[in-house]
Parts: sequence; C-alpha cells; structure tokens
Amino acid sequence: MAMMTGGEYLASLDDGRRVFADGQEIKDLSAHPQFATALDLIAAGYDEHHRPGEDACGPYFAIPRSRDELKRLLEELLHWDMVTVTTSQGLLALLTAAARIRPSSEEYARRIEAYFEYCKDNDLRCVQAITDAKGDRMRSPGAQDDPDVYTRIVERRPDGIVVRGAKLHISSAAVSHELVVMPTKKMKPGEEDWAVACAIPVNSPGVRIVNTNYAPRERTPDFPHSSRHNMPEGFVILDDVFVPNERVFLAGETEHSATFAHSLGLWERLGGTAHLVEIGDTLVGLAQLIAEANGTERVSHIREKIAEMIIYATLVRAGLEAAIANAEPSPEGWYFPSELFTNAAKHFGAAEFSAMVRHLHDIGGGSIVTAPSIADLEHEEIGPAIRKYMRTKEGVDGEYRTRLFHAIRDYTADAFGGWQLVTMLQSGGGLYAQRLVARKHYPMDKAKALGLKVAGIPEN
Ligand SMILES: Cc1cc2nc3c(=O)[nH]c(=O)nc-3n(C[C@H](O)[C@H](O)[C@H](O)COP(=O)(O)OP(=O)(O)OC[C@H]3O[C@@H](n4cnc5c(N)ncnc54)[C@H](O)[C@@H]3O)c2cc1C
Repeated sequence: MAMMTGGEYLASLDDGRRVFADGQEIKDLSAHPQFATALDLIAAGYDEHHRPGEDACGPYFAIPRSRDELKRLLEELLHWDMVTVTTSQGLLALLTAAARIRPSSEEYARRIEAYFEYCKDNDLRCVQAITDAKGDRMRSPGAQDDPDVYTRIVERRPDGIVVRGAKLHISSAAVSHELVVMPTKKMKPGEEDWAVACAIPVNSPGVRIVNTNYAPRERTPDFPHSSRHNMPEGFVILDDVFVPNERVFLAGETEHSATFAHSLGLWERLGGTAHLVEIGDTLVGLAQLIAEANGTERVSHIREKIAEMIIYATLVRAGLEAAIANAEPSPEGWYFPSELFTNAAKHFGAAEFSAMVRHLHDIGGGSIVTAPSIADLEHEEIGPAIRKYMRTKEGVDGEYRTRLFHAIRDYTADAFGGWQLVTMLQSGGGLYAQRLVARKHYPMDKAKALGLKVAGIPEN
C-alpha cells in the first residue's frame, strides 16, 4: 500500500460513516462549518507528509527506539493536527500494552502489532476511544441500572465479538478512520464482559458519532486562533458492532484491563505535556506583548506575574525533559517515557493552568472581552475613532493592540478558551488519575527512609 494525499484522505471519508451535528445527519463533512477547518488541516498534513512508493510511511508511525527518538517524536508532534497526534499516541499506547501483556497473552500482542502495520501500510488515522458514559460514578459496571453505560461484549462468536456502549468526548472521531477502543478503567473478576479492547473502523455498521465543536461558525478575524485550529469532539455510540477476532485485543481478561487504560494514559499525558510547554510559552508571550502594548511592562506587580508565568512554563518543560530522560526500553527495544515524571508534569501543568490564565487576564485589562470587532475597525465612519482610542503610544497603533486583545480572548476567554480550561483538567483521565499514577511510581521507600533519618529512628 502507499501513503495517501490530502485529496485521497478527503475521498476516503465518503465511506458510509454516520455523523451527526446540530440536530442533523451530515452527509458531506467538508461542506459543514463544524468540520471544514479540521478537514483542511488534516488534508494539508497528508499532503505535507506524502511521499511516493510502496514502503513510504509518515513519521507519526515511528516507534521510538532511544531517548533521542522519543524527544524528536514529541517535537514533531507539535506540528501535527489533532487526529495525527491521536494516531501516534493511540498506536503507541496499544504497543505499550502489547509489550506489557505479551508474557501471558502472546496472541493479543501479535494482533496489536499486525494492526499497527495495517494502519501504517494504509496511512490511516486513529482516535483513542477510552472514556465510557459511566452512569452512576459510585457503581461498578455490573451494578449499573443500565449495563451498557460501560462498553461491553454482548455476544461472543467463533469469528469475533459484538460490542455495545458509548465512548464520550472522543476527539476527532468523525474525521478519522479507526476507533481504538479500550476499557475505561481496571475491571474486576465478574466484569469480564466489560474488559474489552479492540479496533473498530469508523464506518462499521452500528457506529454513530454525534459532534460538538467550539469552532466559530464563520471564519472571522475576531477568532484568530480558533477559526484556524479546531477539531470536532465525538460522542460515539456503538450499537451492537461486530469486531472480527483479528481486531480484538482484550476480551474478558480482567487482569489486563488496567494495563490498556494506563498505557493510553501515559502517551496521552506525555503528548498533553508537550503541548502544555508550547501553551505555557504562548501565555507568557501574550502577557509580555499586551503589557508592552499597554505600557505597563515595567510595573512591578506585572513583572512578578510574568516571572511566575515564566517559571510555570519552564517547570512544565523540565518535567517533559525528565520524562524523556528517564524513559525505559521494553524488551522489544521500544522506549516508553517515565510514568512518574509524565504524570507529575501533566498534573502540575494542568492544575496551575487556570492561575496562569488569571495572570494574563489581570495584566491585559477589560478590552480582552470588550474590544470592538475587526469589521468595526474597518468601518469607514467609526473605524478611525476606534483606532484613535485603542492606540496607546508611539509604535502601538489601535489595530495592533485590538488584534492582541482578540487573540487573548479567543485563546483564553471565549469558546476555545473555555474548552481549553476544561480540557486541561479533564484530558488524560483528569487530575485524580494523574495523582494515582504518580503515587504508584514514586519511590516512597526512599522518602520514608529520609523521614526516619530526620527523626533519628533506625530504618528497621
Ligand atoms: C476536550 C476533551 C477531549 C477529550 N478527548 C478524549 C479522547 O479523545 N478520548 C477519550 O477516551 N477521552 C477523551 N476525553 C475524556 C476525558 O478523559 C474525561 O473527560 C475524563 O477522564 C473525566 O471523565 P468524565 O468527563 O466522564 O468525568 P467524570 O468521570 O464524571 O469525572 C468528574 C470528576 O469526578 C471525579 N470522579 C468521578 N468518578 C469518581 C470516583 N468513582 N471516585 C472518585 N472521583 C470520581 C473525577 O476525578 C473528576 O474530578 C476528553 C475530554 C475532554 C474535555
């Protein structure tokens, strides 16, 4: 097989998939405002990476075999669209799970590797479908009023399984080819039907995807970031979907269910931290630019806030570097990042994010949400007055400053900004999950020994 061009990717979506948005079924994704930008971005990514030849494949199918390769992958990932990022993360998570379960489940590990080659050979895009509807949070899957609120196996056949359930908040599902389905959490004995991992093509009979998107419905210059960077989030309904044996990676082995969830969490949080580094630097840049435009960059409390933002961005970067520097090889020679540093860095970056946004809003001023639109700025009659009163000094004209305010609003205080605030907290399984994993991998014995030393109590 060969790599796809952007045009071939767009044509590949005309495959009978069932996609809904704004109360309608969408037949032509490229003609709908919720999908147009995403499709442009993904198609451009296909064209950028495209190389001819049967053996050509994109860098997003690389498996890091050293710490340097892992670092390079994370640097490249920042330039990819979201569905290309989820392809890399989702497949690396599957391979991580394969490496961890291989000693007891050689056949599942073989199927995962074969699936990885299939996606690579066909240049497919995958999404990570792990989060279930979950019903009553205090009840286990088997104790729910409705057993379908955690995705489950409803039929086992000689040639495969039939699954039912829903996967919520699945980024880019409608514009991808494959759903990488994993259990949302550890399943206990008795919950075998919910211990299911598999791969499902988006156009499989029984799959329906309902979409939301923060994208502005019109691509206007008042939304300089979100009009150019947005992806749909999918509410994926799995209505008795048949999965052939070759695409089943877990079907009842409860002891491995957490392995899949943790493997996905690791890669999702690593990618999230890599993005957070860039987001942290962007917040610093916006704060410094607007302070300079307002003439407040030398005021002491403004300088202190920007210094705090610099320390935040630098510590997130340090956590990412440590996650890579402490990566360990699997028996296959694949390098996986450090669980402890990945989870600690992601938690720190996510938990402190809203405080950094607060600093930016504090520094910027009210025009972040009240600056007139660019169309008003271009109006023959009122435009000159807006430019006059938005101007601050020599070198800072009204349009420049207004555009900065629009960028800050769009990036941190409007639909995209709200999406980003919530996403920081919830993506990668939420803060609680990151605390759990960090705790599990922290060298507690060493810390206790230090505590005993201070207390002057012998260790044993
Ligand atoms: C924009 C966005 C994109 C996302 N993309 C993806 C994706 O591509 N694929 C994917 O699979 N998922 C994705 N997610 C889902 C994300 O992982 C979840 O939102 C997250 O795991 C929280 O689950 P929830 O939203 O169901 O909230 P809940 O599980 O209801 O959690 C809400 C709060 O309650 C707490 N809580 C819930 N149950 C318990 C309990 N039993 N004990 C203690 N505390 C509890 C949680 O810790 C959290 O603080 C995405 C989320 C967002 C916002």
